[in-house]
Amino acid sequence: MVGVFHEKALIALHRYNCPISQDESGNLMVNVAVKRTINNDLVFTCPFCVSKRKKNLNPYANAKSVIHIHGGSCYGTRTPHCSLETYKFYNLPRFEFNLVENVNYVSSDYLKGNY
Ligand SMILES: [Zn+2]
Repeated sequence: MVGVFHEKALIALHRYNCPISQDESGNLMVNVAVKRTINNDLVFTCPFCVSKRKKNLNPYANAKSVIHIHGGSCYGTRTPHCSLETYKFYNLPRFEFNLVENVNYVSSDYLKGNY
């Protein structure tokens, strides 16, 4: 079953300029522009995860974005490393990150669910 990204998640994805797409089977993918480390791993700043959340799951004011590292030098889809708290906070659907070199600009249309 295909889920949806709720408004809070869409706002975060828009802020980090991460376009959403679907594969042939309708699975949701969040496209992220990655950087390559000296070890040939791929890294990106997560649009969702922060370093520290309160009990109510809201981020602390001084919380920092989390960087996810994915081994393997090939671009393509990866299972998210996002924390359980992050999944709960955003009520995230099942999705994969699609690691790409560049992403297109995400317009604010996106916030209306037009992805
Ligand atoms: Zn994450």
